[in-house]
Amino acid sequence: MPKILIVEDNELSRDMLSRRLRRKGYEVLVATDGQEGIAMAQRELPDLVLMDLSLPDLDGWEATRRLKKDATTQHIPVIALTAHAMSGDREKAIDAGCDEYDTKPIDLRRLLSKMIRFVEDPETSGGEKSMA
Ligand code: MN
Repeated sequence: MPKILIVEDNELSRDMLSRRLRRKGYEVLVATDGQEGIAMAQRELPDLVLMDLSLPDLDGWEATRRLKKDATTQHIPVIALTAHAMSGDREKAIDAGCDEYDTKPIDLRRLLSKMIRFVEDPETSGGEKSMA
């Protein structure tokens, strides 16, 4: 079961996204700010990080930069999430080391289609495993 780390300071967004991903079969970890997100990524080595970019203190760009500098976490794909549909945000996210980018409000189908480029879809991988 792919392990997803959500780094998001907004409680409503965090709870809604974690609930919807758990329902899809993902194992979900949550962190509420950049520091906690880095610590949890180092400790839990998730298969994918969903990184809100606007976080208090340590923002998502800087948190991603640190994850990508750390040999233990640099292989973990990071999908940046931002409410800012500003042109230039995507480039800033990619420059910080993010592997993908998506905008809020979350369109779950669109986000899942980006996630499965990096991690297995738990709904189909279960079937494949039982065939093997
Ligand atoms: Mn935020």
